[in-house]
Amino acid sequence: MNAQTPAPVAAAKGIFINNAWRPAASGRTVPVYAPADGKVFAEIAAGTAPDVDAAVKAARAAVEEGAWGRLSATERGRLLVKLGIAIADHAEELALLEARDTGKPMKQARADMVAAARYFEFYGGAADKLHGETIPFLNGYFVATERERFGVTGHIIPWNYPAQMFGRTIGPALAVGNATVIKPAEDACLTPLRIAELAAGVGFPEGAINIVPGLGEEAGAALSAHRDIDFIAFTGSPEVGVLIQTAAARNHIGCTLELGGKSPHVLFGDTDLDVAIPVIVNTVVQNAGQTCSAGSRLLVERGAYEEVVARVAERFSKLRAGTPEMDLDLGPVINAKQKERVEGFFARAQEKGVPVLAQGSIAEGVPEGGFYVTPRIYGPVPRANELATQEVFGPVLSMLPFDDEADAVALANGTDFGLMAGVWSRDGSRAMRVARKVKAGQVYVNAYGAGGGIELPFGGMKKSGHGREKGFEALYEFSTLKTMIIKHD
Ligand code: ADP
Repeated sequence: MNAQTPAPVAAAKGIFINNAWRPAASGRTVPVYAPADGKVFAEIAAGTAPDVDAAVKAARAAVEEGAWGRLSATERGRLLVKLGIAIADHAEELALLEARDTGKPMKQARADMVAAARYFEFYGGAADKLHGETIPFLNGYFVATERERFGVTGHIIPWNYPAQMFGRTIGPALAVGNATVIKPAEDACLTPLRIAELAAGVGFPEGAINIVPGLGEEAGAALSAHRDIDFIAFTGSPEVGVLIQTAAARNHIGCTLELGGKSPHVLFGDTDLDVAIPVIVNTVVQNAGQTCSAGSRLLVERGAYEEVVARVAERFSKLRAGTPEMDLDLGPVINAKQKERVEGFFARAQEKGVPVLAQGSIAEGVPEGGFYVTPRIYGPVPRANELATQEVFGPVLSMLPFDDEADAVALANGTDFGLMAGVWSRDGSRAMRVARKVKAGQVYVNAYGAGGGIELPFGGMKKSGHGREKGFEALYEFSTLKTMIIKHD
């Protein structure tokens, strides 16, 4: 790291409850590894059930009798906007922290801070615009609906975009007036901890934002099972998603689950490849492929397949992985387990004889012990092969040819997932037909994943999960509806 790298002080402070730091009840800590060199550079508190309980109690008090619960929607919105501004003002410090914690290139970390700030700005603006309705009913009645906060919401977030995920999940929850308890990922959670401190600095009342870092099976399990949370939002693996939904069922509370994808680009032969190819390659290389909505399958009309392979291969072969400061196309993956996972896909593809079409490289001079993997394209991937059906969560693109429109749709819908899709064609009617048949929570036409998508409702169909985050829709997810029926003469 260079001389500007901040000491990870925020991380060492522990658990954040009622705008103050405390050590974990267990007295334990969890080491934090820098993916760039594989070395421990910080420690976070190992929160467990008693810490989660203290955080939930603080949140409950904040919303029921504290200053937070008494704020008007406009006042809450103003605080959220102020936090957005504080994030923007601290963007470079936060980006350095994020880059060190996740290994991502600095340009990516900087872009993430712009998006993180935007979440608070967007939901700050939206806080006092969530209206109810009036409903025509029997004569002599006036009926109105009101969106009401749940009370205390739990949030379990992953390590791939810690600051963005934090803004995405607590922005709308706070906007509608909930008090929040967040369990960030043990692999990368330093920016959420720092942003919580910034929130206290701009005037968020005690108990509105509480963070309990720690291991998933300890702090995460305790939060999802806590009897006094009113809703839980989860983003992470399908396996843990089952545990979260089961815990929510035991408490009879709602949950949103965002569980990843195997998102396709459906590319027809008439596509403008000069526009499409750089976008497509970036969607699976960005963040070293560790993006839920990564465009990890490229389905190409058979007549154009060879040309598209040549163009994508040319780009892929120039890709380089390096440290955050080298600021190349991608960084390392998050940890040794993830590197092993990606390389496991490589090994099994080799055993099965799936051809590698091209691969990038790891830059010279990266520290030994970093979790670097070479970006790769495979193709033609057999339709039943795991590279065509399973989420790798690494910089790996699977190419498959299709015969016609019907085949393209069948192939696009041929996995368990349904998070995002891209349709590429100059024929607008065809693009629309296909876009409407693809099962995915978001479908782009001649674009993909533009601008962070803060305003755009996002979430899964099929086994990618349920519920919607982002956009105005998230305000509905994090609130409940009261209908008031008033009889008059
Ligand atoms: P990944 O495999 O990508 O790390 P996980 O689903 O394991 O995804 O992690 C996503 C989030 O879920 C993290 O914050 C992690 O700590 C948390 N988590 C992991 N296991 C559990 C669990 N048993 N209960 C609750 N949360 C968990």
